[in-house]
Amino acid sequence: MNKLAILGGSKAVVEDSQHEEMFCWPIVTEEDEQAVLEVLRARSMSGLDITKKFETEFAEWVGVKHALGHCNGTASLKGAMWACGVGAGDEVICPSMTYWASIVQALSFGASVNFADIDPDTLCIDPNDIEHRIGPKTKLIVVVHYAGHPCDMDPIMEIARRHNIKVLEDVSHAQGSLYKGRMTGTLGDIAGMSMMTGKSFAIGEAGMMVTNDRLLYERCIVYGHYARTGAPSNYNPVDKQVHDETLSRFAGVALGGAKHRMNQTCAAMGRVQLKYYPERIAEIQKAMSRFWNLLEDVPGIRPHRPPLDSGSTMGGGYFPRGLYCAEELGGLSCEKFCEAVRAEGVTACNPGANAPLHLHPAFHEADLFNQGQPTVIAFGQRDVRQGPGSLPVTERINEIAFGVPWFKHDDLEMIEQIASAYRKVALQAEALQL
Ligand SMILES: *Cc1c(COP(=O)(O)O)cnc(C)c1O
Repeated sequence: MNKLAILGGSKAVVEDSQHEEMFCWPIVTEEDEQAVLEVLRARSMSGLDITKKFETEFAEWVGVKHALGHCNGTASLKGAMWACGVGAGDEVICPSMTYWASIVQALSFGASVNFADIDPDTLCIDPNDIEHRIGPKTKLIVVVHYAGHPCDMDPIMEIARRHNIKVLEDVSHAQGSLYKGRMTGTLGDIAGMSMMTGKSFAIGEAGMMVTNDRLLYERCIVYGHYARTGAPSNYNPVDKQVHDETLSRFAGVALGGAKHRMNQTCAAMGRVQLKYYPERIAEIQKAMSRFWNLLEDVPGIRPHRPPLDSGSTMGGGYFPRGLYCAEELGGLSCEKFCEAVRAEGVTACNPGANAPLHLHPAFHEADLFNQGQPTVIAFGQRDVRQGPGSLPVTERINEIAFGVPWFKHDDLEMIEQIASAYRKVALQAEALQL
């Protein structure tokens, strides 16, 4: 076998820059450009006509009654938290392994966050690490279908129902991911998601809330969509949606002090993207499967994906990870493994994923309300802050997970070449420990 590149051998991957198209995302065609141009020419960037069409089509694709376009994913999740009744002194449960925008919003309501550990196979919230965290003030469980992998929702929903707690799904990584044949975003009470340029469903700065619960939908409107609250409005004269009397009294004002409307250039692009999204993610799934199938018999590395016969899928495959097992490679660290794969020419191979949130100072010290004390304990009845060692799986993320390329096309030659880099390093792990 060829000598490892990191030890002076030749690289397994010739030039991934020659294959830009393989990694280019989102796929933008003249149809997207035309749709966006129409919005510009009509000067309707702040309108709602196109956004509403997009919402209807998106809701139909996901299989929910209500979708509400947002200016970004962070806003959609924030509105959803308020809709679920999260307020000062409440507690929210969330996995520590996620992006900050899954949960920092809870602090802005004066709520505190009790972080749960993740399951080492799914990298999603561990259903067995939820129930003991529930206290009298727990209002909400936020779950994240991490890196496209659906959470194990059946036990999570069972716990939530038993305790009368709502569940918010963060679908930012996972548009189109199935859980036992059911679409993510339809499994909890409400869902929010990012649609920013780097994500799987990518249309610019945009987000979407989806739910089957009419009242939650209306509360999201009241929080950040003043133009839809039934007040006289140039944009929305007939859309008098809010029927909750206590809420409709505030019509015309966004109670969240937030303006969550989606820019219609994004909505227009979203309508075009949605048309092709199912076929495009099917191709991604095919390419990612090809990659992992090529590595099936290689020790130390496994795909991060649900069992193939489970009816669960990885959606658009955003932020693809592999799972690392040092014991199978004579104890070689994940960091060293990744360094050697990068030397073979695969830039995407880095250890870990997101940085654990439960250790971030924002959830220990930040004083959002200028009270002279950390917001996370300012309103609550108990201190739920967690130090190092409290969430062992999450804290080992740099030893158990690594990056792999996010293939957009099922290009046999390219995928084989990149898989061969991982294979080469894993099979010569011993040489790296001398
Ligand atoms: C990107 C992301 C968000 C935030 O979405 P924006 O559109 O960037 O505001 C929230 N949660 C997760 C898990 C994300 O990856």
